[in-house]
Amino acid sequence: MTRKPSLGGTEEEREMARWIEGHWKDQGLDEVHLVPYQVLLSYPSPDVPNLVRIIDSNDDKAIWVSAPKAEEPLYAEEDALPDLPFTFNGYAFPGNVTVKMSDVVYVNYGREQDFDFLESEGVDMTGKIIIARYGKIFRANIAEIAEARGAVGVVLFSDPIDYSPEGSSFVYPNSYFMPPSAAPFGTVKLVDGDPLTPFYPATESAFHIPEDEAQIPKVPVQPISPEDAWQILSRMGGEPAPAPSDWQGGLNFTRKADQGFQQKNLKLNLDVNNKNTPTTTYNVIGIIKGSVEPDRYVVLGNHYDAWIFGAVDPHSGTAAMLELSRLLMQLSKETGWRPRRSLVFCAWGAEEYGVVASLEWTEQFEKQLASRAVAYLNVDMAIEGNYTLRTKSAPMLYDIIFEGTKKIPNPNPEEVAGGRTTVYDTWAVRRPDTVQPGLPLMQFIGSGSDYKGFQHNIGIPSMDVRYTHDNVTLGEPMYHTLYETFALVDEIYDRGFLYHKAVTALWGDVAMVLSESKILPYSLEAYADFISRASEDIIKTYGDLIAQRNMTMEFFTEAVANFHKIVKDFTEELKQVDLENPLQVRKVNDQQMMVERAFIDPRGLPGRPEYK
Ligand SMILES: [Zn+2]
Repeated sequence: MTRKPSLGGTEEEREMARWIEGHWKDQGLDEVHLVPYQVLLSYPSPDVPNLVRIIDSNDDKAIWVSAPKAEEPLYAEEDALPDLPFTFNGYAFPGNVTVKMSDVVYVNYGREQDFDFLESEGVDMTGKIIIARYGKIFRANIAEIAEARGAVGVVLFSDPIDYSPEGSSFVYPNSYFMPPSAAPFGTVKLVDGDPLTPFYPATESAFHIPEDEAQIPKVPVQPISPEDAWQILSRMGGEPAPAPSDWQGGLNFTRKADQGFQQKNLKLNLDVNNKNTPTTTYNVIGIIKGSVEPDRYVVLGNHYDAWIFGAVDPHSGTAAMLELSRLLMQLSKETGWRPRRSLVFCAWGAEEYGVVASLEWTEQFEKQLASRAVAYLNVDMAIEGNYTLRTKSAPMLYDIIFEGTKKIPNPNPEEVAGGRTTVYDTWAVRRPDTVQPGLPLMQFIGSGSDYKGFQHNIGIPSMDVRYTHDNVTLGEPMYHTLYETFALVDEIYDRGFLYHKAVTALWGDVAMVLSESKILPYSLEAYADFISRASEDIIKTYGDLIAQRNMTMEFFTEAVANFHKIVKDFTEELKQVDLENPLQVRKVNDQQMMVERAFIDPRGLPGRPEYK
C-alpha cells in the first residue's frame, strides 16, 4: 500500500480500490461493491512546479527559488521515485502574483486574532502575500481569513518550534520529528465533500454547479519547507519585534517589527499552477450480513487515499481494517459465527481533499443510514505514535470504548512492567481527563475525517481511535509529508506492529459489542452528563452576554434536567425488557438509536448549513 502514492481520483487510487475489493472478495465477505462518484479534485501541474521566488527588481532575476519537487529524498527508497507530484495544497487557486518587498506580511498562525493584532498595528492586508505557520487552525481557515481580508496570496510553512522541537539533528530518519526540508500537503477547501454537488451525492446523473460558484479559495496558496520559509522570513527588515513574543518561532532569525524585505529592491513572487479537475473516486464497501438483524448496520471506515505514501495517514488504518475483516471471516469459516447485526466495511476515496467520497456516500444513502445505522467507527490512522491511545467519540459510545480498552492488552512492555496491563491503564495515566478525574480523556468528535457525514449530518454516534505520541497539541510531525513512509512506521513508530494490533483489537471489540449485544449498550447517562457540562460551559462563558440581550438559559437548563430524568426512567425500563420478545428488543434499541438523531437540525447551524 505504501510503495506508491495513492492520491485521490488518480489511476493509482483506483488501483488501490480494486486491490482492496480483491482482498475482501478473497476473504469471503457477503457483498463487495465499488461505488463511484464524479467529483472535482485538484492537482499540481505535471510539468510546471509551484514555486515561491525572491526576485531582484533591478534585473527581474530570481535570487532564490523554493524547492520545486515534493521534498528532498532523505532515507526511504521510495522518497526518490521519479514521478512524485509537485508540492501543492489541494484546491489552491492557480495564479502568479508578485508583490513588492513591503507587501509581504508574516501573520503568525494565521488566526483571526493574529490578523486583528496586525491590523491594530496599522497593517492593511489588501494586496499582500501573507506567510503563516501551520498548526493552530485548519489550513483552509488560514486561506479563507487571508482572502477575506484582501490578501492576494498565502504561503504556509511548519515552524520547527512546533514540529522539530529537539533541534535539526534529531529529525527523520533519526526520529519522528520533521526535517527542515518537509512541506506538508493538505486541502484548503473549507466545505466537506465534492465542491460541485453541495448537499447532493455526486452521482453520474447529478447536477453539478459551475466551478466559479463552488466554495473553493480564490487565492493561490502554497506550502513550503521550514528551510525555505527561513529564506523569506530572515530577509524581512526593521527592528526586532518587541511583542508579542510568541510570534518568534523556532527559525534561526529574529522576527522584525517591520514587514517587507530589508533590501528594498526585492520582490516576492508566488506561482501556483494547480488545476481543478473533474474525476472519479471510488468507495469500496464490503458487507458481512447480520444473522438476526441484517437491516441494522455497524459501519466501520477508513480512507485509502493518501497525499503521497501515507504509511501513517491512512494506511496504518487501512491495514488494520483489512486485518479485522480477515479475522472476522476466519472466525465465521471456522465456527459458523455470523454477526447479529450487519458489519459494513468502508474504504473511502479522496478523504484528503476534504472528506469527499464518504460525504457523498452519506448524502446518497442518508435515509437508509438514518433509519438503520447503529454507529460509525472510524480509524483514519491506526497509529501516529506509540505513547497512548487517543480517542474522539460521541458520548453515546463512551462506555463501550472504556470497557473495550480495559480488555485490550497493553502493547508497551515497559508500561506492562510498571503494572499497567491494559490499553486503558496507560491511557488513564498518560492522557487523564482533567474535568473528570480518574477517567482517561475522551476528546470531542470534530469534523476532521470521514465521520463528518455520519456524526454531523445524520446523527449517527461516531468515534475515531488511534495510538498517538506524547505531545497533546502537536499533530503527527510528518503528517502529509513525503516522509510518511513504511520506514517511519516500521523503524520508528511500531516495530512488530504491536500498536497496530492493539488498535485493531479495540476497533473489533467495539464493533462486536455493537453488533452482538441484544440490547444496544449505549451510554445515555454519559450523554446527559456531557450536555450538563456543556450547558454549564455556555453559561460560564456567555452568561453575561445572554443576560445583556434579555435572553435566558432557563428553558435550556430545564430541558437538560428533563433529559436526565428521562434517561433515568428509560434505563430502569430497559431492565424490564423481555429479551425473548424481538419486538420489545427492537423497540428499545430503535429508541436509543434515535437519540443522537434527535439533535440533528436539518437546516444546519446559522450560516453553516453543512453542519446539522
Ligand atoms: Zn487521514
